[in-house]
Amino acid sequence: MFHVKHFDVVVVGGGHAGCEAALASARAGASTALITMKMSDIGVMSCNPAIGGLGKGHLVREIDALGGAMGLAADESGIQFRLLNRTKGPAVQGPRTQSDRVLYRRAMQRIMTSQQGLQVIEAEVASLVMDGGRTAGVMLADDSTVLASAVVLTTGTFLGGLIHIGDKSYPSGRMGDAASMRMSEQLRSLDLPIARLKTGTPPRLKSSSIKWDQLELQHADDDPSLFSFLSDQLSVQQVACGITHTNAATHDIIRKNIGRSAMYGGHIDGVGPRYCPSIEDKVVRFAEKDSHQIFLEPEGLTSDVVYPNGISTSLPEDVQADYVHSIAGLENAEILQPGYAIEYDFVDPQSLSSALALKACPGLYLAGQINGTTGYEEAAAQGLVVGLNAARQAKGLDAFSFSRSDSYIGVMIDDLITKGVTEPYRMFTSRAEFRLQLRADNADRRLTPTGRMLSLVDDRRWDRFSKKLDQIETALNVLTSVKVSARKLAGQGVNVAVDGPARTVHEALGLADCDFPKVKSLDASLDQIPDEIGQQVRNDALYAPYAKRQQRDIDALKEAEATVIPAGFSFQGLSGLSNELKMKLARAQPQNLHECLVLEGMTPAAMLLIRGALRREE
Ligand code: FAD
Repeated sequence: MFHVKHFDVVVVGGGHAGCEAALASARAGASTALITMKMSDIGVMSCNPAIGGLGKGHLVREIDALGGAMGLAADESGIQFRLLNRTKGPAVQGPRTQSDRVLYRRAMQRIMTSQQGLQVIEAEVASLVMDGGRTAGVMLADDSTVLASAVVLTTGTFLGGLIHIGDKSYPSGRMGDAASMRMSEQLRSLDLPIARLKTGTPPRLKSSSIKWDQLELQHADDDPSLFSFLSDQLSVQQVACGITHTNAATHDIIRKNIGRSAMYGGHIDGVGPRYCPSIEDKVVRFAEKDSHQIFLEPEGLTSDVVYPNGISTSLPEDVQADYVHSIAGLENAEILQPGYAIEYDFVDPQSLSSALALKACPGLYLAGQINGTTGYEEAAAQGLVVGLNAARQAKGLDAFSFSRSDSYIGVMIDDLITKGVTEPYRMFTSRAEFRLQLRADNADRRLTPTGRMLSLVDDRRWDRFSKKLDQIETALNVLTSVKVSARKLAGQGVNVAVDGPARTVHEALGLADCDFPKVKSLDASLDQIPDEIGQQVRNDALYAPYAKRQQRDIDALKEAEATVIPAGFSFQGLSGLSNELKMKLARAQPQNLHECLVLEGMTPAAMLLIRGALRREE
C-alpha cells in the first residue's frame, strides 16, 4: 500500500543547504519535512573539515544573525579558530575554524531533531510529483508520495554524480554514497537548463603515520572569533595544524603522470573551481612555481584522519601515493581514502527568481551546489533563503528578497540569478561593492531585525541583540562626550601631531591606526564599555566617511530593486528596443529594474524606454 503524507514544505537533501532550508521553513511557521537519503549523514562535510574563511565567514555570521544553525554548530565543534586577514581592515577579516567532523554532525543533528514543526524522513526521493505544470510534492523510491505546497531541492553533488579516479569512473553522490540518478533524469525531462560542473578532494592521511615533529605548526588564535552572536566561549580544546610543501620531486611525479589524471586524460566534461584547483592543475597552470603550501588539518579531536588541504586530485591511486610520499613529513604517510574528482548536474541559476524559485516551474525551489555554487557556507545561506520563501509561499505571503546592499547573501543571490555561473561560484569579499558596510562584525545589526520581522529570530536571540543595541547606544554617548588631547593619543601610539587639537574619543576611533584597546585607558569613564562593544563602535567610526559617500549608490540600487516589473509585462511591445535585447529580456524575465540594468548588453537608452513604459503602467 502506498502512503501519502502532506506538508507545507518538503526539503530534499540533508546537506548544508537542506538543513538551513528545513530549519528556516519550520521557524517561519510551515509544517516541514526534510527527506534525505541517510539520517546519519545530516551535517556531513563532504570535503574539508572547516567552516568560514574570507567572504564565507561573513555568510556564516549572516546565517546566524537570521537565526540559522551553521554558526552554532561551528562554534560547538571548532578545534582551531583563526581570524583571517587579522592585520587588514575589519571589513575584509574572515572568521574561520577547523571543525571536528563528528562534533559538527552531532550538533547539526541535535538542532534538526529538536526543531518544532520539522520532521526528518530517511528516504531517497525518486521524482517530483507534478500537477498541471506545478510542483505538488515528491515520490519516494518506495513509491510512497509526500505532497507539499512547495518543494525545495538541495541535492548537492548527488544529481547525476560521477566519481573519477584516474581512468576509473562510477556513479556516486560522494565517496561511499549512491548518486541521485532518477531525479537527474526527471529534471532533464522537464527541459530545465542543466549543465555539468566538477569538484575534487584530496587523499585522506593517517595522522599517526605523519612526522609531525618535522613540520612547522600553525596554532589557533589566543582570542578566538566565534561565529554565533549567541556564543560566549570555546566549546572544545584547540589543536594546531601542520604546514608542509610540495617540491620539485612532487611536481615531477605529477607532470610525468598528468595524462593519467581524470581531468587531463579527457574523462571529465564539467568545469572545476578556479579558486580551489587540483594539485595537477596547479602544477600545469603555475609551472613557474616549484612549491605549493599544504595545510595538514586534523579532522577531529578523536580522529586519526588528516585532511591535506591543497592537494586535491583525480590522479590514479598509485600516483597519489607516490606524490604524497615525496613531500616532507609525509614520507611514510598512509592513505586512508584516495582523492577523487566528482562531476554533477547543476541548474543554470539564471532560471531562478531572487527567492531561488524556478521561474518555469511554480512551487519548486533550488539551493546549494545544484545552483552552481561550491562550499558549505554558500549552500547554507541559500538554504535559509529558500526555506524562508518556500514557507512564505505555502502561507500565501509574498516572496522576500535580500539586497546586495544589506548582505553577502543578497550579493550571492543577485550574482547567481543575473550573471549565472561558468565555474563553481564561491564567495569573496571582493564580490561585494558595499563591503565596508557589510562586515562580519555587524551582521546582526544588518539582519537580525529583518530576521525577527520574518519570524526567523527567536526571543532568546532577540533579547540578546536588543541588549547589545542598548550597550552600543550607551557607549556612543560616552565616546562622543569624552575628549582626549592629541598628546595623550600620540602617547598611545596613534599617529597624530602632539600639538594637534583635542578630539572626542569617537573621533579618535575613526583614525585609521586607532582602536578601542589603545584609547580605553585614557579616561576612567571608558571602563564601563565592554571591549567588544568599543571595538564595534570603532569599526563603524572607521568606515563612516565611506559609508556616507556610498549612500547615494545604495539608495539608487534600492530604488531600482523596489521598481517591480509587473507579471505579464511585455518587452516585445516596446518600440525602440533592439530585437536582441527583447529576446534577452524575454529569456531573463527580470523581476525588477535592477535586474534589467545588469542584463548583459543593456544600454542607457534602453533603460530610459523601459523606465518610461513602467511609469505609464502605474
Ligand atoms: P550536500 O552537502 O552534498 O548535501 C546533499 C544532500 O542531499 C545529501 O545529504 C544527500 O544524501 C541528499 N540527497 C541527494 N539526492 C537525494 C535524493 N534524491 N533523495 C534524498 N536525499 C538526497 N566545497 C568547497 O568549498 N571547497 C572544496 O574544495 C570542495 N570540494 C568538494 C569535493 C567533493 C568531492 C565534494 C563531494 C564536495 C566538495 N565541496 C567543496 C562542496 C561542498 O561539499 C558542497 O558545496 C556542499 O556540501 C554543498 O551543500 P549542499 O547542501 O548543496 O549539498
